[in-house]
Amino acid sequence: METRYCLECGEPLHGRADKKFCSDQCRTTYHNRLHAEANSYLRRINAILKKNRNILAALNPHGKAKVHKETLLSKGYNFNYHTNVYETRTGNRYIFCYDMGYLPLKEDMYFLVHRQEYIG
Ligand SMILES: [Zn+2]
Repeated sequence: METRYCLECGEPLHGRADKKFCSDQCRTTYHNRLHAEANSYLRRINAILKKNRNILAALNPHGKAKVHKETLLSKGYNFNYHTNVYETRTGNRYIFCYDMGYLPLKEDMYFLVHRQEYIG
């Protein structure tokens, strides 16, 4: 039979074939670390989303604005992340980070909007 090893400390395991850890302590340590990694991943994504949202808000103090892509990029906007997409009946796709969004226009221009205008 193949020897298996504790997923946390690497010690050889004895006993049941479905055992993954040598002790409760190793099991707890392992799961706590996974949990911490998942949390730090979520924190990183949330930070990007909030930063995006704040950049849009700063460039759009009156609820509507038109900006060039370069302006967004120069502020550190990350186009890979958004929270939701709103598609109008006419087929325009607004991309949102929470309540702040944009509609891509021609020639790298973006029309910035505040979501309130589009809810119910
Ligand atoms: Zn162990």
